[in-house]
Amino acid sequence: MDFKNEDDKNKIDEYKMKKKKENFVLISAVCLAIIIFLSINYALTIIHENKTKIAMNKEQNKEEENKKDLTKDTDSKNNSSKDKTEDKEDVLDLSENGGFLKSSEDYAYDASEIREYILSNKEYNGEKRVFLTFDDGVTPGITDKVLDILKENNVHATFFVVGKTLNNAAKPYLERELKEGNAIAIHSFSHDYAKLYPNRNPDVSVIKEEAEKTYTRLKELLGENFKTNVWRYPGGHLSWKGLDGENNADEALKSLGLNWIDWNCLCGDAEPLKTRPTNKEEMMNFTKKSLIYWKQKDVVVILMHDGVGKNLTIETLPDIIEYFKSNGYEFGILK
Ligand SMILES: [Zn+2]
Repeated sequence: MDFKNEDDKNKIDEYKMKKKKENFVLISAVCLAIIIFLSINYALTIIHENKTKIAMNKEQNKEEENKKDLTKDTDSKNNSSKDKTEDKEDVLDLSENGGFLKSSEDYAYDASEIREYILSNKEYNGEKRVFLTFDDGVTPGITDKVLDILKENNVHATFFVVGKTLNNAAKPYLERELKEGNAIAIHSFSHDYAKLYPNRNPDVSVIKEEAEKTYTRLKELLGENFKTNVWRYPGGHLSWKGLDGENNADEALKSLGLNWIDWNCLCGDAEPLKTRPTNKEEMMNFTKKSLIYWKQKDVVVILMHDGVGKNLTIETLPDIIEYFKSNGYEFGILK
């Protein structure tokens, strides 16, 4: 290079230096700006990511809480259904000694022993005791009314049920009978004299089969633990010859754990129409008179029916209960 003088050269150098400095400052500033921009950008991204994460976490927590709530709900539902089952088991706390609940054991008396008393085969020296018995149910519309009256009067009865009536609709009636302190016994499956006693001759195999069939049905409706020891022959033991003879029906029933029992008092609600009471007063008189024919009056087993159409029995029942109460009888059930 050719310079005019040293001064000029210095000026140029100075100028160059200045330029360099300016460029350096500029580049630095640009770099700094870029760094700041990138940093801010990075920071924003991080903040945004964090926000998303927080939001996602919140969402996740919510979901987990919901899940917990659902589990709680299901748990509480499970618990409540468990409670219900337990309640049911509590209510049907069946006795091992007969067709009633454990809570009814205090006033349950052995049917085979009571039978001996009412037949005067055995002397009785105890308290005056009456056993209300209802045959031929379950009958919706009748059985429930009988139960209402028993409950109102705080007394109990033994229900001799017929197997063919024991459909699923009968279940709540049977349960109510037990829950309200009553006993359940068996009164055949068909109640058909022609099947049970063809030509008035007891058919042991049919009698046994019907007892078993009814027993099975009761267990299906009331649980495997249901047990009863009591049977009443349709028409009564006294109506048929040969039940205790050869090919013994009484023994066949005994092999199933069933003891038969009749009655020594009746309200007349199943008498032939000619002699059947037609109003409360007649029924009450029939009941009192029926006792005359029996020697044993301190132990009374009274025959009544909760079959179809037995409305007069329902109507008279409070008076019948009152009659025995006022004459000093205690009320028992059969086991
Ligand atoms: Zn009957």
